[in-house]
Amino acid sequence: MGSPILVERMPNEIANLRYANYWLTQSDIPPGTEGPLLESVDVAVIGAGFAGLAAALELSKLGARTMVLESKTVGWGASCRNGGMVLTGLKLSAETLVRHYGIEVAQRMYSASLAAIDCVEEIVRAEAIECNFRRCGHVEVASKKPHFVSYARSAEFIARHFQHTVRIVSPSQLAQEIGSEIYHGGLVDDASAGLQPARYVAGLGRAALKTGAAIYENCPVERLERTSQRGEAGFALFTSRGKVFAREVFVATGAYGYSLVPAMHKKVIPIGSFIIATEPLPDSLSKQLSPRDRMIYDSRHYLHYFRLTPDNRMLFGGRAAFLPETPSSVRHSAVILRRDMVRVFPQLRDAKVEYIWGGTLDFCFDTMPHAGKMAGVHYAIGFAGHGVAMATYLGTQIARKIAARNGQQPFDGIAFPNAPAGFYGERPWLLPLAGAFYKVLDWIS
Ligand SMILES: Cc1cc2nc3c(=O)[nH]c(=O)nc-3n(C[C@H](O)[C@H](O)[C@H](O)COP(=O)(O)OP(=O)(O)OC[C@H]3O[C@@H](n4cnc5c(N)ncnc54)[C@H](O)[C@@H]3O)c2cc1C
Repeated sequence: MGSPILVERMPNEIANLRYANYWLTQSDIPPGTEGPLLESVDVAVIGAGFAGLAAALELSKLGARTMVLESKTVGWGASCRNGGMVLTGLKLSAETLVRHYGIEVAQRMYSASLAAIDCVEEIVRAEAIECNFRRCGHVEVASKKPHFVSYARSAEFIARHFQHTVRIVSPSQLAQEIGSEIYHGGLVDDASAGLQPARYVAGLGRAALKTGAAIYENCPVERLERTSQRGEAGFALFTSRGKVFAREVFVATGAYGYSLVPAMHKKVIPIGSFIIATEPLPDSLSKQLSPRDRMIYDSRHYLHYFRLTPDNRMLFGGRAAFLPETPSSVRHSAVILRRDMVRVFPQLRDAKVEYIWGGTLDFCFDTMPHAGKMAGVHYAIGFAGHGVAMATYLGTQIARKIAARNGQQPFDGIAFPNAPAGFYGERPWLLPLAGAFYKVLDWIS
């Protein structure tokens, strides 16, 4: 694991860390379906993450013959690798939503973000999934004074237009939320939740299988082609294990396979993000760092997000890169994230970091979720760091739409921009500049 030179340079606190996803060490992901692929189904779902598994569960409950095709293993993508923060709102602020989409559509979008958390809670309850789901709330902490000043405006705006309550935490009260002295205040939303994402994936997978869906692992879909079978229109899916027919297709590949739909290729930007987890901390220390055990993130573009795990480790994420993760970027991130964590929490100076891993987030160029139909197939993408709730919700809504049971959601039909010229293509000169742009924004705003 890693070059000896790099390991030599690593501080003692991370010299023995494991390049592994901590969540997976604490979960029991079910194996997929054995045997040959079904030759023909009502719905083929491509990708076994939150979106694909939630859709498969709902489709099977509604009586559709459903098959999930997964390149690797159940939950291999972002769904097992994330921070487990089940957050209200969207990546864009409430004010920006109203500016871009008008008050009515923005209200529906904001309501969908709240309904998405209810949807996760309902699935967890109905399927008895043991994934440490808790309505613990989240707190956004202000990295700069002007960010804190803007919180009062946001809270008032959200209350007036969306009838939702968020609460300001003044700098003098902040110690009740976080044991760090570098922030300038906070904004609390008690409706948010936290969970253990790999256990949630495991539960979703088990429930989908139990309800009758088939899930085939190690089965990448290489190509889709419109066709018909016995007079019925649909798609031929060419997989590494042969060709199958489906009346409807849901592409739920997140950041890991969206180019399967060529029209989608220039609409998505994969962004790497990385997480470290410390050794389990003494109770007294963890209570000091996060007295209310909330989901926490800061107000920068290149943000840090952090929380305690159920066994009292500090899980600290960030260091976005405008590229998917690589083994070397994961190694490098361990050093940077530990340094950043100690800046936030000097109390963790001597805590050992035991795990580092990375994953790729699905961002669209307008930082919005999009879900609907493109080139004849259903899709849901662009969760932008809100995918635990939103991928579950949109997967479920798409399943309902396919089964003609309503399934309305406000992200269908909104403008879905392509990348600016220069981002993709033979000479993608804009890509490295994008990262620099956001760093400059953090510096000046
Ligand atoms: C480090 C990190 C931290 C994050 N933190 C949070 C957080 O705290 N809260 C939050 O809400 N969101 C967070 N996110 C985002 C969230 O994890 C994602 O938005 C969400 O998991 C996306 O789910 P999905 O089902 O769309 O895709 P994924 O979970 O990525 O699943 C897609 C699956 O499709 C498979 N696939 C791809 N191509 C093919 C193909 N051709 N054939 C068959 N299978 C294919 C892949 O192998 C993969 O398993 C984070 C993401 C990362 C990476």
